[in-house]
Amino acid sequence: MTFINLFLSSFVVFISHYFCRQVHQLVCIMQAANCAICKQHLVGGKPTVTLTQKGAAGINEASSKQTDDVSVNPGGKVHQDCRRDY
Ligand SMILES: [Zn+2]
Repeated sequence: MTFINLFLSSFVVFISHYFCRQVHQLVCIMQAANCAICKQHLVGGKPTVTLTQKGAAGINEASSKQTDDVSVNPGGKVHQDCRRDY
């Protein structure tokens, strides 16, 4: 294998991994598949709850008090434990 071939193949591997990660993130965002509080996947994890208007407002309020970057929308999903402990 020449140097250029080696370079190209590592470049292709790098790019495909990069895109894979981007697509994965995009899919997660589109499906809102991550818990807004702990940022972990919701799928296949702990029990989840769907936030009500009031629940979301409470979390956003607590977040701004703690100067956290947590921000949720009504209808969004978070872990049951995360919402309780937040
Ligand atoms: Zn969580």
